[in-house]
Amino acid sequence: MPIIPADSHYMQLPREVLIGKNVAGSVGETLTRLGFSGPALVVTGPKVMSVAANIVLDSLKRSNFKSSTIIAENATTAQVTKVQREIKRLSPDIIVGVGGGKDIDVAKLSSMKSGTRFVSVPTAASHDGIASPFVSMKGLNRPYSYVAHSPIAIVADTSIIARSPYRLIASGCGDVVAKYTAVRDWKLAHRIKNEYYGDYAAELALMSSRLVMRNANAIRAMSDSGVRTLVEALISCGVAMSIAGTSRPCSGAEHLFSHALAMIAPKPALHGEQCGVGTIMCAYLHGANWQLIKDVLRRIGAPTTAKELGIDPECVVDALTKAHSIRPERYTILGESGLTKEAAQRVASITGVIE
Ligand SMILES: [Zn+2]
Repeated sequence: MPIIPADSHYMQLPREVLIGKNVAGSVGETLTRLGFSGPALVVTGPKVMSVAANIVLDSLKRSNFKSSTIIAENATTAQVTKVQREIKRLSPDIIVGVGGGKDIDVAKLSSMKSGTRFVSVPTAASHDGIASPFVSMKGLNRPYSYVAHSPIAIVADTSIIARSPYRLIASGCGDVVAKYTAVRDWKLAHRIKNEYYGDYAAELALMSSRLVMRNANAIRAMSDSGVRTLVEALISCGVAMSIAGTSRPCSGAEHLFSHALAMIAPKPALHGEQCGVGTIMCAYLHGANWQLIKDVLRRIGAPTTAKELGIDPECVVDALTKAHSIRPERYTILGESGLTKEAAQRVASITGVIE
């Protein structure tokens, strides 16, 4: 990040975004157009090799890129260090992250730490990290996201994404619907704490949330337009964070709740699934239309209760009371001292998250 004079604002945005069926075969061309000539290092996950990485490798070959591949076993800082070593050894011109959110996060953080640019080629639409400058992973000294850098390009192949398990798609919807309360929390922090608030970024995040809600049935039916709406919404959310220079437009109390659950629950659910359920309860706390959120998530086929998350009701209540302490500087509807146990039980049972 450059040194930014006071009262100025820095935005780092993707330069090219390509969305559509069978676009994974255009990664090589896209990189050539952007002025890269190789070598390229493809960072991918163990399950993604045959699904997508081979298509990307073929495409790089056709565009005369010398390329190597490294498999990130999981999203941990140990894997980031492993990839960084490989970057140092090969001195690639560009890093190509191919895979789910976790694989993209490893590519994003290792490329940032090595001062190399990266391209995001998501194979799943499970959360907004596929396009944002933020990463979250095990081994960082905090449970929430950390600023890295934006992808120089995003190549989102909807025919590959549509073949991913439906649970990932539903989870991605939960992460987008979450902007309904994230933006309310941001506005609240602006009023109460005089925190910077950007209308443009806030509206972009809210628009993504509205579009996913409006297209809930098309997404459930996995129609081409439904999948595309979700992918575009996730990318727009990433851009909203790039414009804001903070994850604020996309992450409020519902995200703090999800981060708390991830620490407390013996077997946490997916990030977007937890955020969706958090949004129902936080919408109630905001006095907003929580029934609408619940109805949309139901129609999408995403979890709306502790039971559907596969998490004990006690863990949900515990996470609600601890969420405010995860990131104390992030002011939300939970306030500075958080919910009491009784208040947490009440919001969870009124909204039907626990029985
Ligand atoms: Zn999220």
